[in-house]
Amino acid sequence: MGQVLNFRPQCINYGCHRAVAHSGARVRPVCGHCHKAGYGAHAYSFGVMPFRTGRCTNDNSQLGFPCPTNYKRAPWAVGVTEIDHIDGNHMNNVLSNVMELCPMCHKKKGMMSGDYVGFRYARG
Ligand SMILES: [Zn+2]
Ligand SMILES: [Zn+2]
Repeated sequence: MGQVLNFRPQCINYGCHRAVAHSGARVRPVCGHCHKAGYGAHAYSFGVMPFRTGRCTNDNSQLGFPCPTNYKRAPWAVGVTEIDHIDGNHMNNVLSNVMELCPMCHKKKGMMSGDYVGFRYARG
């Protein structure tokens, strides 16, 4: 018997209460509807505010190191962000456990907290 994913966390977007989308073992931080809206496939549902702002939230060095992304110098970097689960648990999909980070901060934070050790981040 395979393991059945019988618990699905909620979409992190404000005002959205759908269960998150997942493909196999990977769980997205948002639901399928918001995921598509994020790519411009359709509009967000009425009353839903996207969690992502397109900018790294480590601009105040809250992770203990400065963000290397300078949005004034690199405006193309706006929108290139990733959602980090602070405790490394993708099932703990609540606002207090998620941060929007640029890829550089995400990687550094992951190395510092040990997220990259072991199988959890086996590519992709
Ligand atoms: Zn959603
Ligand atoms: Zn950053």
